[in-house]
Amino acid sequence: MAVNQALFDATIRHAVFLEQLKAGEVAKFGPFLKEIDRTIRNQLTQADLTDYNQRRLQRLLDEVDSLLLAIFQRYSDQLMLDLIDIAMYEAQFEASSLTRAAPVGITFDAAVPGVAAVRAAVLSSPLSVRGTDGGKLLKAFIKGWTNAERERVAGAIRQGFFEGQTNFQVIRNIRGTAAAGYRDGILATTNRNAATVARTAIQHVAAQARMETIKANPDVVREVEMVATLDSKTSQTCRSMDKRRFPVNSGPRPPFHPNCRTTFVPVTDWSEMFSEGATRAAIGDNGAGQVAASLSYYSWLKRQPAAFQDQALGPTRGKLFREGGLTLERFSELQLDRNFRPLTLEQMKGLEPLAFERAGI
Ligand SMILES: [Zn+2]
Repeated sequence: MAVNQALFDATIRHAVFLEQLKAGEVAKFGPFLKEIDRTIRNQLTQADLTDYNQRRLQRLLDEVDSLLLAIFQRYSDQLMLDLIDIAMYEAQFEASSLTRAAPVGITFDAAVPGVAAVRAAVLSSPLSVRGTDGGKLLKAFIKGWTNAERERVAGAIRQGFFEGQTNFQVIRNIRGTAAAGYRDGILATTNRNAATVARTAIQHVAAQARMETIKANPDVVREVEMVATLDSKTSQTCRSMDKRRFPVNSGPRPPFHPNCRTTFVPVTDWSEMFSEGATRAAIGDNGAGQVAASLSYYSWLKRQPAAFQDQALGPTRGKLFREGGLTLERFSELQLDRNFRPLTLEQMKGLEPLAFERAGI
């Protein structure tokens, strides 16, 4: 079985489009953040915290929290609506790209799963993200984030009260300072986290919806092949995931971590192999360009200068990559455990002590 060039190209073009869509979704949090900011300032400028007793503090905290809860709820509702729309769009995209990829002479019309099936897949498949958010369902993932943000704001107010801070100081801790462009406040963290949640949720929804279409066409697709981004920002997990294949009904799917950009392409049993000269996009030391489609992440990285390799891998892994005497396959395997969680250098050393010795690490 081979990856079909037309499918590959359509998938990559679509991944670029999806990144733009993520940026649009991220921007939608802006007005909500302003509202959160305004609400907190309104509440905190009504009376001086230093005059408060514990009971009055608790009333203030409850009031602020219920207002924030309502704002986050409205944002989450809007995000969920958008996510379901994106899911339907993705399921449809996968069907049309499968249909278009059929070789000349084969009449094939890909099946499209129904709205209920796509919705169920998106909502009831856990996120593949490794780490603290691993295995969560979409709604719990979003809810967990909004809870954490509300707690952070409440914590800043409570701490301010117990440390005898003025309202001005508490507000400054939450909003940040103009001098630092408000990047030093709690709300800057909220904003960054909102972007991560939106991006990660979209990646999850797109993957699950596309898989629903792929599963609806079992005669044509039996495997999916992971496609990571070829640049220096790709994560340890995704560098090793690149070009790995999994059966349609098992194995992990992106996002493998928050802000993951990895996608996948269906492997069809249509015999049309990658044509001579097929390419994939990469951003290497010489900037953006096209490289042979057959290159995996590490075979591409091997052609980059040492400084670029170090930028992508970090200096120690870079040295191991160049001087450890490991094959690219072994180096790639060595990065992840059986559950595709990234291994630390210490854990890698336990598995390949000789390679570390050869590289002088
Ligand atoms: Zn990734």
